[in-house]
Amino acid sequence: MPPRSLKLLQPTARAQVFPEHVLYARPNPDRSRKQCANCVLWAPDAQECQIHDANVIATADSVCGYHVFGMPSKTQLERLNIDPVPPELSGLEQVPGGTSCDRCRFYQSQGSMSGLCQFLDDPEEPGAHPVVEALSCCARWAPAG
Ligand code: SF4
Ligand code: SF4
Repeated sequence: MPPRSLKLLQPTARAQVFPEHVLYARPNPDRSRKQCANCVLWAPDAQECQIHDANVIATADSVCGYHVFGMPSKTQLERLNIDPVPPELSGLEQVPGGTSCDRCRFYQSQGSMSGLCQFLDDPEEPGAHPVVEALSCCARWAPAG
């Protein structure tokens, strides 16, 4: 018998999924795609990430759902009093070139700048999918093709 907490997580019907449920993030200010190389949580010298355990390798072309745009850290990581995020939860994986909506299997292009996300529900229009920017991304990203 599954633990009570797992049982409670079983959905009875498909729940609507809105952008805020999947950490939807707008495009990077410099229009790059999302990857560890442009995340403030990355430590390039160690090829590690501040929120993952020390034995988890995070290369420049890796990425996860916790990406925060900014300049990576040059300082030595200490990891004091942190409970590291397991890579199975963060979705850490190598994606050469980085992630973005226009490289996701759920993206339906509507031009060079935007498209429809076939996975999410539009909070403004019941039954419709939302328009997302081509270089946005979210934790539900999956490779196209
Ligand atoms: S693993 Fe995720 S949080 Fe860590 S540096 Fe890479 S993108 Fe940022
Ligand atoms: S297209 Fe993919 S990455 Fe973009 S919001 Fe939808 S699921 Fe997330």
